[in-house]
Amino acid sequence: MNIVLLGPPGAGKGTQATRLAARLKLTHVATGDMLRYEVANGTELGRLAKTYMDRGDLVPDDVIVGMIKARLGDGGLLLDGFPRTVVQAEALDTALDEAGQNLDRAIYLAVDRDELIERLSGRAVCSKCQRSYNLKSAPPAKDMVCDACGGGVVVREDDKPSAIRNRMAVYEKQTAPVLDYYRNGGRLTEMNGMGTPGEVQDRLLAAAGA
Ligand code: AMP
Repeated sequence: MNIVLLGPPGAGKGTQATRLAARLKLTHVATGDMLRYEVANGTELGRLAKTYMDRGDLVPDDVIVGMIKARLGDGGLLLDGFPRTVVQAEALDTALDEAGQNLDRAIYLAVDRDELIERLSGRAVCSKCQRSYNLKSAPPAKDMVCDACGGGVVVREDDKPSAIRNRMAVYEKQTAPVLDYYRNGGRLTEMNGMGTPGEVQDRLLAAAGA
């Protein structure tokens, strides 16, 4: 089974994908995490990607598609944060087809715009294990220290206000058309992403047929 999880920044894709992948025994592939790993390691790809990421812009399609192709392998993937453009969605279909696989479902997590801004503006993440927190509604027990691994909790450069505004605009312009791509192909499941993480997870499991 291969699943794509779609949604605007702050929809909860990362949190939900981590849980869903564990429940369905899928490999969680998050392009944002992969890119942050490259940035943290100071690779050439990381240095290139950082200039786009810090502004909240998308990294060029050819870079992302090259990076993701290496992970398609045997399938059983839960893709999070990819595809983000129609070009990427088409490239994914082609690459899966070449690997003798297909995409079973694209699930879209819909969340109101006010709620998205609220979630993103409080968001912080562990720099070691990537666990995410909301500094207003669900902060770590000890100031900026991860409950799970003791790593440092930080606010991402792209969760700062000007980058958040840009990420929303980029989403509307470049990523929203991906919904139509899957809708037209009859592969899109639209889902209410409002509510607690547990409530959303239950809806997702039902949509994934689990
Ligand atoms: P995320 O953690 O998914 O919000 O991704 C963080 C940043 O990484 C995005 O704002 C983009 O700059 C970059 N990025 C992640 N996935 C992609 C993608 N599929 N295409 C282009 N850029 C991406």
